[in-house]
Amino acid sequence: MAERTKGKCKYCGKPFTSSYMGKHLASCNARMHHLEVPPEPDQALQGYFLIKVFGTYNKEYWMYIEVDEDQTLGDLDQFLRDIWVECCGHLSEFSFLGMRFPNVAFESFGDDPESVMDNVRLGDVLRPNLQMHYEYDFGTTTYLTLLVENYRKGAPEEEPITILSRNISPKILCDHCNKEEATAVSVYAVPGDECFFCDACMEELGIDEEETLPVCNSPRMGMCGYCGSDVYPDEFVPDTELDE
Ligand SMILES: [Zn+2]
Ligand SMILES: [Zn+2]
Ligand SMILES: [Zn+2]
Repeated sequence: MAERTKGKCKYCGKPFTSSYMGKHLASCNARMHHLEVPPEPDQALQGYFLIKVFGTYNKEYWMYIEVDEDQTLGDLDQFLRDIWVECCGHLSEFSFLGMRFPNVAFESFGDDPESVMDNVRLGDVLRPNLQMHYEYDFGTTTYLTLLVENYRKGAPEEEPITILSRNISPKILCDHCNKEEATAVSVYAVPGDECFFCDACMEELGIDEEETLPVCNSPRMGMCGYCGSDVYPDEFVPDTELDE
């Protein structure tokens, strides 16, 4: 599968590969224009981390996000679940610098225990060039890598987490006809087997829908019971393409 998927810049709409997008975001005129807007007189400056997130073993799935430093690891976990990984409420964990931050609660935290992640403010632990590992589900695990690329202070953004770019869905052809785009992935496929199918071939081969999962724009596609995001559409729409 092609790893060099492109994604569009939120601010100017231009498509780039993930490695080039990092450079682009540092110099995009439309983004610089957005960042120059001063805060309102009664607003304090807010700190933001620019983070590149990608599938550790499937790098064609990637995104650049900007996260408010007052968010917690728990908030970041929720975002990753919402957009890429949530299927059955599995456990997850961040790890970096030899420390592990699971989303489990310990009663020693008090009467109303929060998960370990919820107690970790990003501004207290992240810094530029830090690499974090994230695992979702310790059975059928999805592995993500998060690279903190930058930190800046500026006027408060509308949302605590902003998507700056995200890969366009990779085109996956049906393994059977090699012509149509696949819509389903077999849950029983082993390496070497036909794995991806289009609607017509599913019908022709008599493959039951129960035996497949939908193709979706996520590094968790085809795993456990993952059916895609309920919160975010598969395709990221840059500001330049939004209806006014
Ligand atoms: Zn741009
Ligand atoms: Zn699951
Ligand atoms: Zn087909």
